[in-house]
Amino acid sequence: MDVRHVAKDLWRVDYRFAQAVTAVKLHSIGAFRKQEWKVLTPGMAMTSGADFDVIASKGKPFKAASVQIRTFDGWSPKEYVSFNRFSDGGTSVYLGHLQGDVEQGDKTLSMHTDFTFAGLAQENVIAPPANRLKPGGQRGYVYFGPAQAILAGAVKVVIDPKAPQWLRETILDVGAKTSGYYEKAYQRQLKDELLIMVAIGNVESPGFSMKGGAIMGAGQVSYLMEGKQVQLDHPKLREYATKTVAHEMAHIWQMAVARGGLGDDQGPWIHEGGAEAMALDALAQTGLFSEEAVKAYRAKQAAACEKLGGAVDTFDGIYACGLMRFDKLGVGIVPLWRAMMETTEATGAAYSQQMIDTIVAAK
Ligand SMILES: [Zn+2]
Repeated sequence: MDVRHVAKDLWRVDYRFAQAVTAVKLHSIGAFRKQEWKVLTPGMAMTSGADFDVIASKGKPFKAASVQIRTFDGWSPKEYVSFNRFSDGGTSVYLGHLQGDVEQGDKTLSMHTDFTFAGLAQENVIAPPANRLKPGGQRGYVYFGPAQAILAGAVKVVIDPKAPQWLRETILDVGAKTSGYYEKAYQRQLKDELLIMVAIGNVESPGFSMKGGAIMGAGQVSYLMEGKQVQLDHPKLREYATKTVAHEMAHIWQMAVARGGLGDDQGPWIHEGGAEAMALDALAQTGLFSEEAVKAYRAKQAAACEKLGGAVDTFDGIYACGLMRFDKLGVGIVPLWRAMMETTEATGAAYSQQMIDTIVAAK
């Protein structure tokens, strides 16, 4: 797949397949493709259904397809942000939204993707690490823009020049401290080359928002901060950012396994509730959070979960009730996840409720 930045807010993606296919089938990402994609190849069209966007040529086999894409500012909860805008005019593009399945007649196969990237003249292009767990599988964010990656220890960082000092400090310091803790507690080293991107988006909107996205098994964390209060160094915002970083780094450690971890059917609450519990433990043990702050956060999430009746089928439930589920197991989060990592590596099976039950029963 060739991904080219062709003009401000305009991208061109060329799919070139090793074998002829009859359709490109991509999981729907809200209104993204319907709104912003235009198929350029003559005779081809994209149809958008409830679950999939499908690019095809009336059933005829093809080996190439070209699309033009405009930068999309929308976002669907539970999905990665498709594009992050940096204040210096840079943009990062989530490659996973360009990837998916192909069809060959009635056969559906997953794409095995190699990428090439080209930016505008003068632009730096910073590619995301490879997908270690699934070669050719989903990739994270590629950055196009004026910024250069800097090295912070063993970690590569692309940081928005508008990121205020308090936020840089928080992201780098909490990242390093929680990494050090996870490494020791879970007794394993990071398997990924790690690339962290920090974008400061719209600072005109009210309040403060911080979205974090860890790319599972592919060594990347992307943060997007928005809102007027980004420039404020307030203890509440520091606390919020600290928790977010500890949570995202927990995801990186959940996937510090040689195989397994991810699968199709396991509940997202295992990854998210697990990251919440791992983060609270790390924050308490490193002293980044006081005991009271940890307690207060737990109480807030317990109340949120109670309102949801304990269910993990909503965005909030995945986090709040996911955390409660881990809290109620009666096994410490560190020995539990250590055992889960060992099991997933030994069997190749994804993290699952059944795996947790088996481990808890044996403790
Ligand atoms: Zn998460």
